[in-house]
Amino acid sequence: MYSLERTGETGVRRADLPVHQDGMSAEEMKHALVHTGLLLRESRSANKRLRELNAAKSQSLSLSSHELRTPLAVIKSFAEILVNEEDSLDREKSLQFMRIIDQECDRLGALLDGVLKLQRIEAGTACAEGGTVDPAAIAEHLRIAFRPAAKEKGIELTFDLPAGLPVFDADQEQMIMALSNFMTNALDYNPSGTRVSVSAEVRDRSIRFSVSDDGTGIDAEHHSFLFDRFYRVRNKAAALTRGTGLGLSIVKAVAERHGGRTFMESSPGLGSTFSIEVPVSSKDGAFNRDVERALSDAREMGHPLGLVFIKLEGSAPGSGAAGNGPSRLTWMEQCVETVVRGTDAVLQYRDDALVVLLRTNGPGTRRCMERIQEAIEHRRGGFVLDEGAYSLWFGTAIYPDSACDAHELVSVAEEGRAKWQPVYLAGTAGR
Ligand code: ADP
Repeated sequence: MYSLERTGETGVRRADLPVHQDGMSAEEMKHALVHTGLLLRESRSANKRLRELNAAKSQSLSLSSHELRTPLAVIKSFAEILVNEEDSLDREKSLQFMRIIDQECDRLGALLDGVLKLQRIEAGTACAEGGTVDPAAIAEHLRIAFRPAAKEKGIELTFDLPAGLPVFDADQEQMIMALSNFMTNALDYNPSGTRVSVSAEVRDRSIRFSVSDDGTGIDAEHHSFLFDRFYRVRNKAAALTRGTGLGLSIVKAVAERHGGRTFMESSPGLGSTFSIEVPVSSKDGAFNRDVERALSDAREMGHPLGLVFIKLEGSAPGSGAAGNGPSRLTWMEQCVETVVRGTDAVLQYRDDALVVLLRTNGPGTRRCMERIQEAIEHRRGGFVLDEGAYSLWFGTAIYPDSACDAHELVSVAEEGRAKWQPVYLAGTAGR
């Protein structure tokens, strides 16, 4: 039987849902219930995402308009001189001013281009819904696109991709755009005679692409700002390159859309390595994005974030309760949904665990963990377990006490399960 508890923000009670319809077996009803619950959650999270996008759009618009105003002001003032002082300007001066206007128009165009790219990435559903990418194809694309420029500049370009790298879920165009930005920088900011190498490796369930150079390197004081919009290092190399300061922020946006991350290491005089890492599976990417979003909400609103990691181990791992119905994980998710609040989120983690995100501190997280345990033990939400013996593992992590980074928080919660004794459960045959 189903409990009468609220299912989150919507306030829909399970009792409001049809409990019986002609022609629907009890099993089908349970499946319908699970799917209804999941649909409600999806629509809640879509709404939330729309609100976030709106806020991000306004913020990025105001930042961009500020940056776009600079070249516009230069164009306006030189155009005014040309119009108002036409008689007193000699041909050489006029030409010089026109050249400045021409350059600033190019700069304005490049800035607009970059801002539009960023907006498309941020607003899109680029998390590879449907798209897959072959790392070898990316490397080939970069080789063809950048070999002539490297040759012209006298920079040696090498590719170091091990055989057997997996095809991964991503938007190919965006991955190429991100890596091309790393490549352009490596060629632009390093002198002739240096070397640039592209490499890729699998790390856990992610793939990491890196572009390394042995060139000028970047002073440590700039490192934490490099991926910020419009940030440029004011040095000789940058003065010679007409950049916008948007290249690395575009890479960051691509990484985030895929639930991935960016990294950089650099030492002045020794060179730099810039990397983008994205999950091989878009399911992992979606999970990472959800945790990242909850964390950025917590940071912005100044509240803690509790994570509860739940893993059920035992017979027939991951199998459907009825063989072909919702997986055991989906049943467990539905069960956990009966105890969390509308502001909390229950996420499937990899193939065999759940992570619950709670707007609460350590003691609140602990209490919720106990309620979840009770709900699972009492098989709330129609949760069923095939016959067998199971152990239920828990782990917790709290932002900001345990970690401040989304990946680290999840690792702390997952590894934290060693702290708690598992709860033993017995499955029952026949439902
Ligand atoms: P842009 O290249 O348009 O200035 P980016 O966001 O791509 O903007 O890069 C930001 C800054 O990082 C650059 O201005 C440059 O100073 C520095 N940078 C990026 N890549 C490298 C590199 N491989 N070597 C040295 N400096 C780099």
